Amino acid sequence: MLASIVGGHRREGDESVVDLNPASPDEHLATTRLAGPEIVSEAIDAAADAFPEWRDTPSPDRGSVLRRAADLLEEREQQIARDLASEEGKTLGEALGETRRAAAIFRYYSGQTLEPDGETYPSHSPQTFLFTRREPLGVVAAITPWNFPIAIPAWKIAPAIAFGNSVVWKPAEIVPLTSTHLAAALHDASLPAAVLNLVLGRGSIVGDGLVAHERVDALSFTGSNAVGRAIQLKATAAGKKVQLELGGKNPAVVLADADLELAAEHVARGAFLSAGQKCTATSRVIVEQAVFDEFSERLAAIAKSWPVGDPLDEDTKVGPLSCEPQLETVSAYLRRAESENARILAGGNTLIDDGRRGYFVELTVLTDLPPTSAVVREEIFGPVAALLPASSYDQAVHLANDTPFGLTAALFTRDLGKALRFSRDARAGVVKINQESAGLEYQVPFGGMRESSSGTREQGKVARDFFTQWKTIYLDAPGDR
Ligand code: NAP
Ligand code: MG
Repeated sequence: MLASIVGGHRREGDESVVDLNPASPDEHLATTRLAGPEIVSEAIDAAADAFPEWRDTPSPDRGSVLRRAADLLEEREQQIARDLASEEGKTLGEALGETRRAAAIFRYYSGQTLEPDGETYPSHSPQTFLFTRREPLGVVAAITPWNFPIAIPAWKIAPAIAFGNSVVWKPAEIVPLTSTHLAAALHDASLPAAVLNLVLGRGSIVGDGLVAHERVDALSFTGSNAVGRAIQLKATAAGKKVQLELGGKNPAVVLADADLELAAEHVARGAFLSAGQKCTATSRVIVEQAVFDEFSERLAAIAKSWPVGDPLDEDTKVGPLSCEPQLETVSAYLRRAESENARILAGGNTLIDDGRRGYFVELTVLTDLPPTSAVVREEIFGPVAALLPASSYDQAVHLANDTPFGLTAALFTRDLGKALRFSRDARAGVVKINQESAGLEYQVPFGGMRESSSGTREQGKVARDFFTQWKTIYLDAPGDR
């Protein structure tokens, strides 16, 4: 039985839910006792009470805890990856890679605890020592989605605690096993128990109590736009510092001079791996007219050849969607594409009749949709790529930027001038040239423009901007004349 962990103690709420395997929903992996609002309050109090001592713990000692947690994640990676793949649906290989990424993130932020945390300035008065220090915020609430159930929490929790904050973490409801593993690694690494409190509960029930609580100082959220914007309103009204990472509708532009084999492989990876359930997934593929047919055939051939199936099977390239609501959403977009007379070059169906009733979807390539179609404009979060022809570089850029989102954008070309131009023209927080739109390195800033993000960037050393605040100190020593 899984439960919240508050101040190091298990806290069971009244409601129980079953953790399902999306590849085979009759298989129950665990049962979770969901927290209600009272457990959230206890978690916030525990974090707030633990904060002063953690803030005053020498920064390198905080780093040592993170390094031990990284070691433990690696020691336990096989079990964690199996549980992650079983409850979320990504393949075992993807789950193992993600678990190792989480360990690497903890190790990176343990290094950041030795980096400068302030500056000195020349003062206008000769005896004044004028300096700044970056101090932790206090209690940070982290609310995370299911699609990277260990890496995204890691890139919030690691900098939060590295820089001296305490944390209340509410992971997505459908990944309790993975969340429990991550909390256990930190606690077993001798993090003071109340510095990280895990709340397993429904967002709709525990969300309000977390977002606007007077003892919460800041909120870092990754998830959907609808939930993120609603939370932002409440949290900013209550005076909290807020960081949001939201959705995407990321373009890949394929110019006529591109290496089409490389482009097709990378577009397929961006569109289909993790069943397209990445905020950075490629979902619009804008192809210059001269190579449109050849590129479409290549992409469709890959879509038809990659095996979709059991995430624990070594031959599987793409697992199921994470849950039934996801299957319903993606199916609705596929039906909509059909009703708008899209030409389906590959896939187009759900695979629910494979005997196990798993939440599978065929890898799908569509075209002949108007740029105004919802299928082209809205985030689908499934293995669906919509192809759009462009008559020139300029039209391709116009189409690429024709979205309310702005998370990532990819370009495939051999023309260095166009590559550099695109790096300026693309209205996206991350630009990738001759690489898939997904796939991030943790030592550089990550975040989007427009509707995709709000607040300062995540990851890399800039994470410090969110998880700390500046203090300016004017120091005169009376004897120093
Ligand atoms: P979601 O439905 O918005 O949920 C995200 C988190 O918010 C979950 O923990 C959820 O809990 C919680 N939540 C729901 N309602 C809440 C409320 N009223 N108050 C407080 N918390 C609440 O998103 P998702 O379906 O898990 O994830 C998919 C979305 O995340 C996609 O839109 C994707 O683009 C986005 N995403 C963005 C990034 C990025 O970095 N930009 C990265 C990954 C994913 P429950 O699970 O209990 O509902
Ligand atoms: Mg959701």
